[in-house]
Amino acid sequence: MILLDGKATAATIRTEIKEELDKLTGKYGRQPGLAVVLVGEDPASQVYVRNKERACEDCGIKSMPHKLDNTTQLELEGLIQKLNRDVNVDGILVQLPLPEGLDSQKILDLIDPEKDVDGFHPVNVGKMSLGLPGFKPCTPAGVINLLKRYNLDPACKKAVVIGRSNIVGKPLAMMLSQSGPCANATVTLCHSRTADLKAECLEADFVFAAIGTPNFVTADMVKEGAVVIDVGINRTDEGLAGDCDFESLKDKVHAITPVPGGVGPMTIAQLMVNTLEAFRLHVGA
Ligand code: NAD
Repeated sequence: MILLDGKATAATIRTEIKEELDKLTGKYGRQPGLAVVLVGEDPASQVYVRNKERACEDCGIKSMPHKLDNTTQLELEGLIQKLNRDVNVDGILVQLPLPEGLDSQKILDLIDPEKDVDGFHPVNVGKMSLGLPGFKPCTPAGVINLLKRYNLDPACKKAVVIGRSNIVGKPLAMMLSQSGPCANATVTLCHSRTADLKAECLEADFVFAAIGTPNFVTADMVKEGAVVIDVGINRTDEGLAGDCDFESLKDKVHAITPVPGGVGPMTIAQLMVNTLEAFRLHVGA
């Protein structure tokens, strides 16, 4: 069984970015800037933001935090517009979920698509669906990157994605089914209304779980030798748990991601990749 080590792979990616930025920042006279907007005191969001700030430091990206205790829709919209105009800001990330009363979609829609390093702006979602270059959401792009690094090519294989959220399941299914490197899979997108999920999963060479229920995918649901990618991050009394039952799956699968240390670190690494891409776009590198 191959343990797909997202933590180590993410560290390698951060080192590669740092090496590239050591050259680019000298040449263009500034570091890439990533503005991270955090509203409220959600503990999980605070951890995610801290991890993103650390990753920026590792890579040579300037983290520009905007931590607001509370704000109004109008004030937040004003901040996004200011960041859009700031030539030292290459990427803008608004940590979700925003507190109740704020319209997240309206805020995301305001971000300049060329600074949308989270890949959530409708322009970038549209470009992705057309197979055009643009920013791709960090979690599914990080998953594809992890498969690439381990030479696990889903081309011509059957893939099942469980979960149809806009940030993980839907874009992942789209990316896997497109043409290009580490894609070309025949994809079934499953969700809470799928009639026979087990039967769908048993057909799959690759299973991607993005459900939000601890240990949901068990060994009886996957075929021998499948590749299982666990996107889930669930806080339980016993600590962090994925959506896949690692213990029962590990002896049956060809490869699997652990939780923690699998997809999570790859998501943050992909944010760094996207920020480097935004910087290149803005300086013309
Ligand atoms: P979501 O709640 O938006 O979507 C969950 C999806 O699962 C839904 O589309 C739903 O149809 C499907 N689902 C629910 N119950 C089901 C069932 N019984 N059978 C089949 N499908 C079912 O969640 P999300 O934002 O996509 O996140 C999913 C998981 O991934 C969560 O645990 C989240 O914490 C985690 N996550 C991890 C990262 C990361 O960086 N590793 C990033 C984003 C989300």
